Amino acid sequence: MQILWGDSMPIHNQLCGMAVMIVILYMFLRQKRIGLYTEMVFLRTLVITMVCVALDILSIVAIWNRASIPDWLLAFVCKSYVVGLVWVGYLALTYVMTDMYSEQDYYRNIRVFTLVAALESLVIYCLPIAYHVDGNVMYTEGPSVLMTYLCAVSFLVATIAMIVRRRRQIESKRRLATIVWMGMWVIAALVQFFNNYLLLVGFAGSLGMMSLYCILENPENNVDHRFGCFHTHALNAYLEQCYGRKEHKSILFLAINNRLRKDVSIESADEYLHKLIRWFHAIPDVKVFKNIDRELVIVFPNMSAMSLAFSKLQETFYYDHFYNLEREKRPVTDGREFFPETLFILFPDTQLMADMDEMMMVHQALYAEHCNRVESLVCYVNESALKKIRSENQIVKEIKDALEEDRVEVFYQPIYEVKEDRFSSAEALIRIRQKDGSFLSPGSFIPVAEMNGLIERLGERVMEKVCIFLKSYDLEALGIHYLEVNLSVVQCGQRNLADRYLEIMRRHETNPYYINLEITETGTMLSKKTLLANMNRLIREGVSFSLDDFGNGQSNLDYMIDMPVAGMKLDMNMTRAYFTDLKAKMVVQSTIRMAHDLDMFLVAEGVELQEQFEEMVKQNVDYIQGYYFSKPLPEKEYVAFLQSRQAG
Ligand code: C2E
Ligand code: CA
Ligand code: CA
Repeated sequence: MQILWGDSMPIHNQLCGMAVMIVILYMFLRQKRIGLYTEMVFLRTLVITMVCVALDILSIVAIWNRASIPDWLLAFVCKSYVVGLVWVGYLALTYVMTDMYSEQDYYRNIRVFTLVAALESLVIYCLPIAYHVDGNVMYTEGPSVLMTYLCAVSFLVATIAMIVRRRRQIESKRRLATIVWMGMWVIAALVQFFNNYLLLVGFAGSLGMMSLYCILENPENNVDHRFGCFHTHALNAYLEQCYGRKEHKSILFLAINNRLRKDVSIESADEYLHKLIRWFHAIPDVKVFKNIDRELVIVFPNMSAMSLAFSKLQETFYYDHFYNLEREKRPVTDGREFFPETLFILFPDTQLMADMDEMMMVHQALYAEHCNRVESLVCYVNESALKKIRSENQIVKEIKDALEEDRVEVFYQPIYEVKEDRFSSAEALIRIRQKDGSFLSPGSFIPVAEMNGLIERLGERVMEKVCIFLKSYDLEALGIHYLEVNLSVVQCGQRNLADRYLEIMRRHETNPYYINLEITETGTMLSKKTLLANMNRLIREGVSFSLDDFGNGQSNLDYMIDMPVAGMKLDMNMTRAYFTDLKAKMVVQSTIRMAHDLDMFLVAEGVELQEQFEEMVKQNVDYIQGYYFSKPLPEKEYVAFLQSRQAG
């Protein structure tokens, strides 16, 4: 080490460096921090660098006054400074490692390096140190200093090797910050080596800290400046740490819905968010994050803190959900301000979920399911809710895999035409063949597919398979006049439905006259305009429609008249009720009459018994479908069924 020996103590650079670091420390401590362990690592690095620069100054003071202090003290101070340099090298290495491992692994790995640095320090303290005074310049030298060079350089090399070897694991910003920091040290050391009157190393250390702070560790970087709370990126880092440390936190997601209401503009929704953020910030030990899409994420230290805050929230702000009022009747009463429709997702304990990914999956699933609601809603993620979401997620995965691996199959349930006394039609019913060869029924996966945007792909796959089937057989010989294909409520609202289906038919050279699409009344209610446009376009090409599940739930006779349907399917429950309930019998009879008056054909579903079959024939039903004839059959069995039955 070379120290200038001049008229005044050459400690100006070091003092400047110290001043810079004091400012950084002040700013760092003053700002809002999330409590990440990377923040801890930075603070440790800053403090040790400050200690090192302080020792630098102290060693110069000691040498300056070497005549008046004992030799051992001089040696101790000078050695402490060079040992400090080794620890700065050590810090650089531990610093680049913060991204590479989980917190526990990080500390396990760090223990080895700590031991190495401690041993090296001991050796440096034990080795002799010498002072070389030559006119204006004075060196500390000898075995102790040589050892310091060796150790510091080895840590530096290890750091660089770590950056190069594991560059993908280090966050790019951390890589850059560390390189800049190390670069400053190296340049300063080189300059000082050739110009031994320029004592730059200490100052360079402080500049390094400055660059770490600016590039990476400024807590401001975690703040969403528009809203004055932490942002999504910070939330991810924080949650990752929570799960790494297995911490039990309680989290409230709060999403304001301004999409469906015209009276809540984006600006006013933001204003509501600002109010809420201020309100939550007033609660101690609470961290507030702003997620994408007008959503706040509030982290509480435990469940009771969240419950307390949540009930206070309801007392302070006015949400329709909590009062179950119709929108028109909303009073603006008791001093509380009305708040727009909000989705609340409450996670009472982060450790209910296996990891952050699962937590995000659960949040995403609930958000997707409820984000388009017009009223406020509270979802409480407890064990049973979680179980449901997990199984739904399993089903989503199964659907995707089945689509990918071509395990979506179509079964055909023969439909008997009374007048012709033959099976001139069939209903195509979807199945998923599982890996063990068994089949999943649509009841278990269609609702999930509808909620997760997979129904279009499933519907198109069924259409595709039906077209391939129609192309593969001599339909005339089999006596098939047309096939019925189910259309989901969700598909009905898709603008491009007709185009997609016509494209599939064209690709497989299917005559659209062979296709009859079954729609349900709920489907017609949701998106009547789009559905009508789709229907008319398909009908022009030759496709026909029938109204499925007639008499089930929300039957509305208007739809029979409004919709261009060629036929109606009597719901299974109606067919059954016919035989047990006199009123139902009369409803069925008049429905049949009405259908015929409107020039529609009628299919009776769920006919299982001889008696039911005979009665339906007597009542003039056009088609009969049910277990009485056959369950839904795989393609080949269906063809075999037709070949044996049509002949007879
Ligand atoms: P759905 O359209 O009402 O279809 C009739 C259901 O009743 C079928 O159940 C069929 O197997 C069953 N069934 C027929 N005859 C009888 C009978 O005599 N007794 C009894 N107990 N059941 C009978 P499946 O195949 O499980 O389908 C259930 C529902 O899943 C269908 O009800 C339909 O809403 C939906 N679905 C089936 N395939 C598709 C599809 O490709 N796309 C869409 N979107 N939905 C489909
Ligand atoms: Ca159907
Ligand atoms: Ca049906």
